[in-house]
Amino acid sequence: MTTDERPVLAVDVGGTKLAVALVDRNGRVHHAVRTATPHGPRADAERVWRALDGVVDRVLAQAGPDGVAGAGVGCGGPMRWPDGVVSPLNLPAWADFPLRARLGERLAGRPVRVHNDAVCVAVAEHWLGAGRGAEHVLGMVVSTGVGGGLVLGGRTVDGAHGNAGHIGHVVVDPDGGPCECGGRGCLESVASGPSLARWAQEQGWRPTVHLAAQATARELAVDARRGHPVALAAMGRAGHALGVGIASATHLLDLEVVSVGGGLAQAGPLLFAPLEEAFRRHARLPFAQDVRVVPAALGQDAGLVGAAALVLAGERYWNPERRHTRTRSR
Ligand SMILES: [Zn+2]
Repeated sequence: MTTDERPVLAVDVGGTKLAVALVDRNGRVHHAVRTATPHGPRADAERVWRALDGVVDRVLAQAGPDGVAGAGVGCGGPMRWPDGVVSPLNLPAWADFPLRARLGERLAGRPVRVHNDAVCVAVAEHWLGAGRGAEHVLGMVVSTGVGGGLVLGGRTVDGAHGNAGHIGHVVVDPDGGPCECGGRGCLESVASGPSLARWAQEQGWRPTVHLAAQATARELAVDARRGHPVALAAMGRAGHALGVGIASATHLLDLEVVSVGGGLAQAGPLLFAPLEEAFRRHARLPFAQDVRVVPAALGQDAGLVGAAALVLAGERYWNPERRHTRTRSR
């Protein structure tokens, strides 16, 4: 833990919203400000940056005379890591956008650390959430995509390119439908909110309540709760795929806790009951059966808390030099 008492500027860049806050060394979130992520033909890279920069301004103004110790940022992938040059799939206006360098101009001399948003959520769950006290945690986010991050031996695992933990592209059905990544039958292609809504519509489901212009997994969850057979089947299908993917990850990594968060996890037992059933069916070795698969404990602040932890508890959660050592020795 750093001895710097100042808060950290935490930034969470999502396809739907941009969130910025101050996070203190206990992980408490202060002065959170959220704004819609600009989209549409006029939302070019600079317009998105100005929207974020404006929110950063408002939050930094709350930081007091000593300012912040640095900035931690969670952003959709892929990205060049640890350089923080981002090309989020959920934010097409940013292709090779130098997010870390831009924020660095605002925070001269102080650390700015950018990681995958799902990694930040996993870090938050390990630090203060469902994985607290465990050493080996997979933190998952199931919403418009399926993301994940790994904390093994109490430290984040980054992989060769900073992309370890991409459980959304673990294959759960080799003969399944196409995935955004170009593959087939990935977990994300079955269990993400949009995939789920699309599948249900192909089976004849039409939402009975309209919460958005397009049918979404939220509406699907509402109808599943009311007993709509196709909506129930869709949630069961997603839960099953998640259980299969988590069982595979558990055997590979010998995990203690898997936390499942994101919008779809709000569906509760509709998702977790089929998930648990599939997990139990496929996690057969005794060590794998010991894993606790639980709903994420931190809500929508998890991304901010985890981003801040990249700076606040950097010795555990920020170790790009380990990657460099490995790359050089190859
Ligand atoms: Zn994929």
